[in-house]
Amino acid sequence: MIFIKALIDKLAKEKALTKEEWVQLLDNIDDTEYPFQKARQIRHEIYGKDVYIRGLIEISNYCKNDCLYCGIRKSNKLADRYRLSKDEILDCCHIGYDLGFRTFVMQGGEDPYYTDEVMCDIIKSIKDRYPECAVTLSLGEKSYESYKALKEAGADRYLLRHETANECHYSSLHPAELTLENRKKCLYDLKELGFQVGSGFMVGSPGQTNETLAEDMLFLKELNPQMVGIGPFIPHKDTPFAKKSAGSGEKTLIMIALTRLMLPQALLPSTTALGTLCEDGRERGILAGANVVMPNLSPKSVREKYLLYDNKICTGDEAAESKLNLEKKFKSIGYEIVVARGDYKKEI
Ligand code: SAH
Repeated sequence: MIFIKALIDKLAKEKALTKEEWVQLLDNIDDTEYPFQKARQIRHEIYGKDVYIRGLIEISNYCKNDCLYCGIRKSNKLADRYRLSKDEILDCCHIGYDLGFRTFVMQGGEDPYYTDEVMCDIIKSIKDRYPECAVTLSLGEKSYESYKALKEAGADRYLLRHETANECHYSSLHPAELTLENRKKCLYDLKELGFQVGSGFMVGSPGQTNETLAEDMLFLKELNPQMVGIGPFIPHKDTPFAKKSAGSGEKTLIMIALTRLMLPQALLPSTTALGTLCEDGRERGILAGANVVMPNLSPKSVREKYLLYDNKICTGDEAAESKLNLEKKFKSIGYEIVVARGDYKKEI
């Protein structure tokens, strides 16, 4: 359709659309090759054919929150809980460093065990041992003071998806104590403190519409984060959303490509959820404009416990030990995994 092509061209040129244009685009987009090819072209201009890797260490599946979509929500009494000690985390970094990882991502539920003091100590030890590596955190909502302490301890980046930029939708996915307002405040606090910030959303979360997706894109434009995580929603059997359907892989790829057009410099992961939903999902993400993958570096004994959704892949090529396989796969589609911190490239 001609007008869809025109909207995509406009997005690529002006890096912005109005809400109405977003809805129109999302309602009518049918041919994916055009946006994918445009997204790749922009990605090649900025990041070449490099794929950045991040070693993902899932430090704890204890969580004080009760997000309706998430398998490690506190009401899930069937989750087999664990938390990693500082030594276990440092062991993961050691293994990861030898494999060529230069970014370590510590992700977990909101687990009060990891006070600022505990986290700062872990961050400092990692930075002491691996000064050339970046430390990324993904530990949920905290106060400005806590984020500040973590930054001062040496953390470089923080991932906190906004999940949805629509108030009503936000409250249908989260318990009443969690608000979109506070989520946004956290993201702006993190930016102000100088973190490279990652936001993002699930595609196909229950209640999502093209209108809420349009609002997500407008919010991302306003926040202008350095990273955007986009993956399909996948139901978890022991959550209130057990019977909901999963998001579409194709739509996830489209959202990645459109995000690349809107925020050309962004670091965009081809997510594990995408790899779980579709065979070769990770490669397809790269071909839609993503430039980051986050293989799992957690100790093997806990990987099967960090289950945000059903059937999460954790032992195949998305595992850090299979970096060689991943490398081969990306090579076959013309991309190369690099040993580098993989920082955000600012607009020149
Ligand atoms: N506690 C941290 C880390 C959350 S897990 C935080 O709050 O940021 C990281 C991301 O996984 C979440 O932001 C969410 O978007 C995604 N996620 C959670 N449950 C999911 C599910 N059922 N399907 C797909 N993605 C999910």
